[in-house]
Amino acid sequence: MATLIPDATQTKAHLTEMFASVQGEGPWVGERQLFVRFLGCNLDCLYCDVPETKTRQSRCRIEEEPGSWRFEWAENPFTVADLMRHLERFGSPALYHAVAVTGGEPLLHHRFLANWFPALRRAGYRIYLETSGELHARMERVASWVDFCAMDIKLPSSSGEKPLWQAHRAFLQVCRDAGIATFAKAVVGHNSTEEEIAESARIAAEVWSEVTLVLQPVTPFGAVTQAPTAAQMLRFQQVALAVHPRVRVIPQTHKLLGAL
Ligand code: SF4
Repeated sequence: MATLIPDATQTKAHLTEMFASVQGEGPWVGERQLFVRFLGCNLDCLYCDVPETKTRQSRCRIEEEPGSWRFEWAENPFTVADLMRHLERFGSPALYHAVAVTGGEPLLHHRFLANWFPALRRAGYRIYLETSGELHARMERVASWVDFCAMDIKLPSSSGEKPLWQAHRAFLQVCRDAGIATFAKAVVGHNSTEEEIAESARIAAEVWSEVTLVLQPVTPFGAVTQAPTAAQMLRFQQVALAVHPRVRVIPQTHKLLGAL
């Protein structure tokens, strides 16, 4: 599938969906968050479970009630004011751990984010950024507003992408220097290798010894039909722990719940 890199402007952005749910990945699993999903991605991971972010969408769906799978629709693109108005329907910011800014790759919209994030902060929200973890120069432009960052470390075996080790290293440095509560996540496939896991752990150990590396077994979707076994995951964790002391195995949980 061809990837979509949207026209990035300061004042408008294309979204695919908004909903309230629980965070399903990583150390903040179970926290109630407001999800805002941006259109477009510069990568094309084999396991991608949001392929709709990679084709142009004229409308954004907005879930009516959390967990209902019933939606209203709003036209793209959104201004900052449009977006803030739509968020109000979900109730007080105090109900939520954070706004989860996701995609696609939200940093493709970094100019828009630089306008939107201060408005989110003024409204009382915290900001949780989910990213492929390689567009480090763009991250530098918005890092001062980000409270939490879930950054990927892409394994070529599972993603089908070329190695991005240097970009991930630079990205994690930006998060460290900005003092963002960050974890690095490697989606692990049945064909992933110990060398890839060790390299991911080396990045964490050498850049930021405090950071947690999450090994997330791939959830079969689309072209990916096979997940790694429990024995593989435990072996990979052992390999990573030999390099870096903070390594956790955490599968996706929101899909068990049947939530978005
Ligand atoms: S970076 Fe995320 S959104 Fe983009 S292709 Fe990969 S999994 Fe999909």
